[in-house]
Amino acid sequence: MPTSADLDHPQPAPITVAPGDGIGPEIMTQVLRILEAAGASLAPQYIEVGEQLYRAGHSSGIAPEAWESLHQTRVLLKGPITTPQGGGYKSLNVTLRKSLGLYANVRPCRSLAPAVSSLHPQLDVVIIRENEEDLYAGIEHQHTPDVVQCLKLITRSGCERIVRYAFEYARSHGRRKVTCMTKDNIMKLTDGLFHKVFDEIGREYPDIQQEHQIIDIGTARLATQPERYDVVVTLNLYGDIISDVVAELTGSVGLAGSANIGRDCAMFEAIHGSAPDIAGKGMANPSGLLQAAVLMLQHLGQTQVAARVQNAWLCALEDGLHTVDIFRPGHSLEKVSTKGFADAVITRL
Ligand code: NAD
Repeated sequence: MPTSADLDHPQPAPITVAPGDGIGPEIMTQVLRILEAAGASLAPQYIEVGEQLYRAGHSSGIAPEAWESLHQTRVLLKGPITTPQGGGYKSLNVTLRKSLGLYANVRPCRSLAPAVSSLHPQLDVVIIRENEEDLYAGIEHQHTPDVVQCLKLITRSGCERIVRYAFEYARSHGRRKVTCMTKDNIMKLTDGLFHKVFDEIGREYPDIQQEHQIIDIGTARLATQPERYDVVVTLNLYGDIISDVVAELTGSVGLAGSANIGRDCAMFEAIHGSAPDIAGKGMANPSGLLQAAVLMLQHLGQTQVAARVQNAWLCALEDGLHTVDIFRPGHSLEKVSTKGFADAVITRL
């Protein structure tokens, strides 16, 4: 078991922790246990977000005091949140991304075959999604009872920031190709601007292969030949959808984590939602949130602890200890609970 002596960061890093809704609290508890056992040097401050806050009358899903913690720590580890359907409520996820200026959503998805059975053993794709604009800007109008409108907002500065981020990410992570996906054959101005900026900025990165695909055929090919792709950069809504597709191809949406990166703040979360169908049953796979926590440790510079957690996680999966979402008879060794999986990771640290 590591001691504080082998920590690369003896000063605990302040982070804000929001357990979230549904399976959020149960996966967060187990992820924090793993981080502590691995020797992560963290000083967590806990905030409540989501359903409880909506019920208490905070239509944004977050209390004003919680913002103080976020502005102080500038790092949020967040469980999934149930977004109330329909009018009157804002999506807290969208509010957090916009308020904290988290413009880049980075979602690495990698096949873990043979440890986890996957249709595409060679899959290793990073989806980089613009995180603040597009149809998620939340500009909706009710014109008449039968006519409603949602505005798709795209800015040149927003496109430049995310496209440059994708090329820089490819360079710094040894990736060879960036594929841009848009629907600019139909949305010639909005998606057209994204594509145009991709071509312009791409000229500054001659060392990186680059291509553009229409999002529909791009998604189809991602599903059938994901090994053709490396880094994909796309608009907010498309990125939201294709990252679930690609994560599911690795075996389960429960396996992937994401980093939401801004200039001053960063937020780390699993890509999946609050899974109300399995909440409280001890069945949830904590891997997505754990992968997010690994990205957070890397962001905080605690790279040795991050590697230790990642290796122990892979060993537990390779040893066939699988939660129900990835359990395959004959392939997996044992079906384990959320806590059982965390125990398996901890014993392999
Ligand atoms: P979901 O991702 O919560 O669940 C989809 C399916 O995947 C369910 O069958 C669920 O049981 C399964 N699943 C998800 N995570 C799992 C895990 N870790 N282990 C095992 N199985 C897992 O999607 P949904 O049902 O469409 O959404 C539920 C709620 O979550 C909605 O209110 C939605 O708005 C919200 N949501 C939140 C976020 C977020 O906080 N970032 C993201 C997506 C959806």
